[in-house]
This record gives sequence, structure tokens and C-alpha cells, in this order.
Amino acid sequence: TKQSLPKSRLSPNSLANQSVQSPLKARANALWPLRKALPVWSRASEIRQGLRIKDIMLLVGETGSGKSTQVPQILAGEPWCKSRPVTLENAKQTVNVGGCIAITEPRRVAAITLARRVAEEMGTPLGASSPASRVGYSVRFDNSTSPCTKIKFLTEGMLLQEMLLDPWLKQYSAVIVDEVHERGVNVDLVLGFMRNIAAGRLEGRGGIPLKVAVMSATAEMERLGSFFEEGYVPSSNGVDPEENESDVSESEWSGISSSDEEHGTADSKGKHINGKQAEKSCAHVATCHIEGRQFPVTINYTPEPVQDFVDAALRTTFKIHYQEPMPGDILVFLTGQETVESLESLVNEYALGMSRDVPKMLVLPLFAALPQAAQQRVFQPAPPRTRKIILATNIAETSVTVSGVRFIIDCGKAKIKQFRTRIGLDSLLVKPISKSAAIQRKGRAGREAPGQCYRLYTEQSYLDLEPRNTPEILRSDLSHAILTMKARGVDDIINFPFLDHPPREALEKALMQLFQLGALTDTGTISEIGQQMAKLPLTVSLGRVLIAAAEPELDCVSEVIDIISCLSVENIFLNLTSEEKKEEAQSARRELYRREGDHLTLLMTVQAYAAENADRKAWAERHFVSHRAMQAVMDVRKQLRAQCQQSKSLKGEKPRQITPELATSLLKCFLKGFATNSARLMPDGSYKTIVGNQTVAIHPSSGLFGKKVEAIMYNEFVFTTKSYARGVSTVQMDWIGGALGI
Ligand code: ADP
Repeated sequence: TKQSLPKSRLSPNSLANQSVQSPLKARANALWPLRKALPVWSRASEIRQGLRIKDIMLLVGETGSGKSTQVPQILAGEPWCKSRPVTLENAKQTVNVGGCIAITEPRRVAAITLARRVAEEMGTPLGASSPASRVGYSVRFDNSTSPCTKIKFLTEGMLLQEMLLDPWLKQYSAVIVDEVHERGVNVDLVLGFMRNIAAGRLEGRGGIPLKVAVMSATAEMERLGSFFEEGYVPSSNGVDPEENESDVSESEWSGISSSDEEHGTADSKGKHINGKQAEKSCAHVATCHIEGRQFPVTINYTPEPVQDFVDAALRTTFKIHYQEPMPGDILVFLTGQETVESLESLVNEYALGMSRDVPKMLVLPLFAALPQAAQQRVFQPAPPRTRKIILATNIAETSVTVSGVRFIIDCGKAKIKQFRTRIGLDSLLVKPISKSAAIQRKGRAGREAPGQCYRLYTEQSYLDLEPRNTPEILRSDLSHAILTMKARGVDDIINFPFLDHPPREALEKALMQLFQLGALTDTGTISEIGQQMAKLPLTVSLGRVLIAAAEPELDCVSEVIDIISCLSVENIFLNLTSEEKKEEAQSARRELYRREGDHLTLLMTVQAYAAENADRKAWAERHFVSHRAMQAVMDVRKQLRAQCQQSKSLKGEKPRQITPELATSLLKCFLKGFATNSARLMPDGSYKTIVGNQTVAIHPSSGLFGKKVEAIMYNEFVFTTKSYARGVSTVQMDWIGGALGI
């Protein structure tokens, strides 16, 4: 049953700043009836009440029930959500704490789109566009907030980054952790930190209590409930809040981040804080289930396994379009940008042949790397007599909800992050989805009316799927996560509150790697280099390389950025199958080839592409280089250059001639991050790794394929039919020795 709440609280105008213009308010008023109809509003008073009494709220609700957009607005007017001056005893100063609500999202796109939508609903300008804006967002390289920001959407990574400066997150009265079911590594870290911070702030640290709402589309709430309750166990053991208020010792105050002092935050250097204590109760966690309105969805399977799901999706799209009445849009789940784009061109091509009496089709791609404006188009209603065909990646599974969808086509696969090698990078592999993901996908069809779901796989394949996604923390490289934790003062990694504890060997391996890179000291604490690495948006190895590049004797930041940008993108050279094409490509790329190896070849490619002012697309085609991949490279490059300019390690250098001296500096620099990825030539002509003494062959995709040199360094170690080194350059044994400190 819907509860009607006092008008003053509900009206968007009451939340909008007086100074904003009326068109914004008019738009907010027009959206209000749509918002009010969302299932979450029937639970608004329960949500408010729950968080008045308790500190943690677990919210489960169907995707599209209004959690992400409405819950921050429901909570923004709460009495506990006010900024308060708190006096820091030793510092003899008063600071304002609280008043702001953070809401974390796993994806950059979701953070920005949601902030835009909520600003619209509240009738306030967005982010940094106006000092009066009440809604903002913060994602990597893009912080768009104002002094008045009350609701801030941010990626999980950005919240972790904010903890570097403010371990108790004092500007926030509440943190809402959204999309917890996705279970990426960062959300697991956020949950662990939130558990500590919520319990710690209850004891007076940080000035005022912190409210935490954890939101998920799928129920795993018992586990989360006991996870958070356990956080309060040690502190509720005989700690008197009154006593605590004046008795917080320096070490207790810095209990979460023992490195407050290292970070030099003015208000957190072991100072006592006089904050109002929240009342303690035995149970700290409230739970709320939001019932969705799910209509029945009929499931159709293929009788036989499908070989080419893009082709099958194409046929199914037209079958639905011809046979099913309007209205009813189609949402197709594909694996990534490439499959979305190929189906997009196929559907558009075949649609040209449709007769005039058949309704039109409007094909709309939806994937993370799509520009903002194009993403926004999926939310706009289709013109009359037109069916929307939305081609999406798993971003439409739970992150983004589009109304009007009645038909789902599910290819049954997704790109899943997997740690690919012992010392290499995480990579995205196309894998079958989990049952829980298949159910989510199906559910997108039944939000407004009965729907249909076409699974492009057999019923048996569905039954064979894993029940749910494996949390990323159990299947990926942990060195970055550990560095993140160490930089926030967590020294005892083993006892960190993980929702799922990663395997001990994985933790040890990551600790060893960080030590070898110089990010940790021999006592296991974070070093100055480690602190710098933690601030970089790169894998630990690449981060180490970038830091080394700024050393005066190496001095090659600009060139290292060019190479790193390429390594962050899958493959910039087109994969050619025919021998004839391969030869043609080889001669076209001759001018880019460097005998030192692939790192320098990548540098030559980026520099040549960047210098091309006339037609980069044609340049890429001529050199058998992927234009789209190069655009992605240029994007990463721009962001990294901006960050290095900010930290003064890059001083606006122009491209230099790549002399043998510069090439040597670059390779020595890469060895600082990749010394363990090196191998030496044996008398029999094979290569054996320096660490582990394993046989490794140079991958055929490398420019050094078939070459015999003293020693090699490689970007990654891949195993197909045998062990291969990919992204290979030639190095000298004494450089490796130098980098390994032997
Ligand atoms: P949940 O978090 O429960 O999945 P959301 O709060 O994201 O739900 O979405 C609630 C509703 O708001 C959805 O039905 C969707 O149609 C609408 N909505 C969300 N974001 C946008 C947007 N950027 N533009 C238009 N409508 C949106």
C-alpha cells in the first residue's frame, strides 16, 4: 500500500534551490507523478523510519523499482542528514561534518546518468555547472560537484580514493552502496570499509554517526545482515559511549586508517572529536524488501545450441517485429561493443528491405563506452509506429532501466573479468552468464505488461549455468585491492572484513608482488612509492612503470604514457587471417616497426597516429590498425597526461626523436614494473623465465617472433597450446638484474 507523505517533503520544489530557473522546476514537477508511481515510494516511510532507528539498512528490490534514483531523495530531508559543526578537541577548531549523501555505483556511466536524472527530478542544475547545484557526481578524471552538493553519485573506486584524504568520510551523513549484487572487487572493499566506519563513527569517531544503506536487486540479505552486525561486536563489548567521547585515544581514533598522519589531514591527526553519540541498540541492521510488479514472462529456448548468436539475434529480432503487435520494444543482450555494433549494422541493413506497412525499427546501441548523448537516446520515446530495438551489453541487466520493453533476446554470454596470467593483467573473456543473470535479463521484459524472453541457448544449457556470478575478489588479481587497503591504513589484510574471503595464496602472491615492486617495505607497510601508485588509475605494474618514468635518469613520462595507453586497450593491430593480408599489413606497418620490440613499436604507432592531422581513420586503415581501438588509446592517453600534468611529472613535452638512448631508458623503465616478466635465451635456442625457470615462447603476434636475443621482457604470459610471452621487447641481462636488485 502506498503511504501518502507530507506534501512539503514530497514536492520536488521544496528540494530545489530557490535561485534555479523555473524550467527546471517545471520539469521536476512533470516528473513527479512518474516518480511517485515507483514501487520504492510505497516503502518510503519504512526506509526513513528504519534508518532513524538503526544505522544500516539493507534494501532489496527489483531493478527499476526506483532504488538508485529515489532512495537518496527519500533520505535527503532526514533530520540526521544535516551538516553539523563538530569541535575537534586538540585542534581547537570546528569543522562541518555530514550533510551529504554518497551513493556508489560500479560503473562510471551509471554514476553520471543517475546524477543527471536525479538533478532533473529535483529541479536543480547538475554538478559543477552551478554553485547552487544539489546533485553532483565524481568519477575518475571528472569531479562535478558544487559547494551545495547534497547527493553525490560516485564510482566505488572514487569513494575508496576519497578515504585517502578523509578516512572517516566525515562529509557524509550516509553512504548508499548500490548494485551490491554485481560484487566487483571494489564493492567488496567498500562494504568492508563501511562496516568499520559505521561501527567506528558510532563510537564518536568522525563526529556523527554514519548511516549506510546497502541496495541490491537480488536477495543475499541474511549474509549481509550478519556481516554488518558482526562489525559492532567488539565495540559493543563494554565500551561506554559517554566515556568514549572524551577518551578516544590517538590510536583508537586512527583505528581504521593508522596512516592519518601520513596523509596529513588537518582534522584527523589523532584528534579527539566531540560528536553526539547515536543510541546503541543490540541490532543495528534494518531490512526492507520492495516488491516489484513483475508480470509473467514466457521463456523460449532454442532446440539446438546456437553457433552464431549475432545471426540468431538478428533472425529473432525480425521474427518478433513481424509477428508481435505494437507497442513493445525489444532489448537484446549481447557481449560487448563489437557484437552490438555488428548487430546494429545488420538490423539496419535488413530493415531497409521491409515493406512500408510494417512498423519502422529504431536501433539503439547501449554500452559503457558509448558517448553520453547516445546513451540518453534509449530513454526517449520512439516516434509513432516505430519499435525500439535496444542492443545492450550487461549494463542493461541491472544498471540501466528502459521503459517500454516487452521482448528480451538473451545471447546467454557476457564479458567477464578474469585474471589472465600469473603476473599479467586482468582481462575480459566472453563466458556463459550465471542463472541469476539470466533471470535478471528475463525480468526486464515484464515490468509493465506480460512479456517474452528468447534465450538463444537450449534449456539444458540454462540448467547447466552456475547459480550466480562468482564474486570478482575470488577470481582476480588482488594486488591493486591490497594496495588500496594498505594506502588506507589497513595493515592486517588477512583480518579485513571481507564478505567472501579471498584465497590465502592469492593474498600472499599479491603481497609478494607489491613488495617486489617496492610498494611495500620489508615490514609490510606501504612505502612512498606505494602511496604514489595507489593514486594512479592503473594496474600496479603499469603504475610502477609510470612512476619510474619520472626519475631524472630515465625521464620519459610522455613516451611511457603513450605505451601504457596502448597496453590498456585490447589490441590495436587488426587480427588478419589470410596470409596475403598478413603480408600486406607487414609491409604497411614497416615504418612503425622497431627492432627493440613491441613496446617501441606501440610508441611509434601512437606517435604516428597522433601526428596525423588529416584523416586518422584512413591512416589507421592504411596501416591495418583498429581506428576504434586507437580512439580508446587516445582517450586513456589524454586522461593520463592530464593526471601527470597535475602531479607535475609531465611538463607538456612535445614528441621526441626515439634515439637508442631513449629506447634504453624506456625499456629499463618497463623493467621496474615487469622484471618478473622476463626470460633469457638458453643454449638450445629456447627462452626460460628468470623467475620460475619455465619455458616460454615468443607469441606469433609479436614483432620479435622467431628472433633470438639475449633476454626478453613481456607484458603478459598467456597459455594456449603452450606458454607464450606477448608484448615482447629485447632487454639485457644486467638491466633485469638491476631491476630485481640482484
Ligand atoms: P533501480 O535502482 O531500482 O534499478 P532506478 O532508480 O534506477 O531503479 O530507476 C527507476 C526508474 O527511473 C526506472 O523505471 C527508469 O525508467 C527511470 N529512470 C532512471 N534513470 C533514468 C534516466 N536517466 N532517464 C529516464 N528515466 C530514468
